[in-house]
Amino acid sequence: MLTHIAVDIGGTKLRAASYPYDTTEPTKVTRVQTQHADRTLLERVVEIITSVWPENEQVAGIAIAAPGPLNPFEGVILSAPNIPEWVNFPLRQIIQDHFQVPVLVGNDANLAALGEWKFGAGQGHHHLIYLTVSTGIGSGIIIDDKLLLGEIGIAAELGHVTVLRDGPQCSCGKFGHLEAIASGTAIAKWVEKEIAQGASSVLSINTQITARKIAEAANAGDSLSIKALMRAGTFLGQAIADYVHIFNPTIVIIGGGVSRSGNLLFIPIEQALQNAIFDPHYLDNLKIVPAALGDDAGLLGALALIRSDRSSIISKLE
Ligand SMILES: [Zn+2]
Repeated sequence: MLTHIAVDIGGTKLRAASYPYDTTEPTKVTRVQTQHADRTLLERVVEIITSVWPENEQVAGIAIAAPGPLNPFEGVILSAPNIPEWVNFPLRQIIQDHFQVPVLVGNDANLAALGEWKFGAGQGHHHLIYLTVSTGIGSGIIIDDKLLLGEIGIAAELGHVTVLRDGPQCSCGKFGHLEAIASGTAIAKWVEKEIAQGASSVLSINTQITARKIAEAANAGDSLSIKALMRAGTFLGQAIADYVHIFNPTIVIIGGGVSRSGNLLFIPIEQALQNAIFDPHYLDNLKIVPAALGDDAGLLGALALIRSDRSSIISKLE
């Protein structure tokens, strides 16, 4: 029986799984820390693929979800903020030469969108926007049943839209991007700044403040934490209104750690979206929902890529 192997190179976790043909239930899964003192990341990727290689079955192909910007047509990592040694790095060719099976490489957030569309919250939709709100903000867009890629495959960076002129600096170096205001990192920085300026909170700047701690404190009634999530949700909702005006989707799926804050985030998103939309018809068939695939979204997205009818999804990717 043919098997597909999916790999997800995350900022903290490196995951791989092997999936028998036609199922989304893996037979083997390995999850390890991405960083390792004595090994390069490439060595770790080769090791983790080997660890899930089936004993008695043939591997039909490998798909890798990797941080971008990357060129999915060539399978080349252009630059990755967390992996300084991977600049113009031909990951697809190297892995293909090593294992001698077809390999595809895609942007992790793009593939998470593909995974949610094929196997998760977006099934049956033809026009979908996916946002992952965690350390940064990644995204993927499905329009007319196709993943939007652009000329060299680096389209759909919805986290790097400017939402606040002269706003805080983004991880990309520019200022006022949505990621610099509404990502988990940005929410934590905002709370730290407010506390440093005298705001009262159950959180203390003497311990590391994270988006997860803020969500817990907000759920326990901490007013500064509630305000932080409301602020992030409002910026997200305003940005989503812009995306909805451009793409007219029927579903916006929000994943990533921050999306687990629940209504404390989703209610301000809905309110800001309703306030910012210029015609109510955009909202008629629109759902804003949390992601369904959780931590395995990257793996299942990579699986969706390797299983795709590529003519309908990524026509240029051959
Ligand atoms: Zn940016």
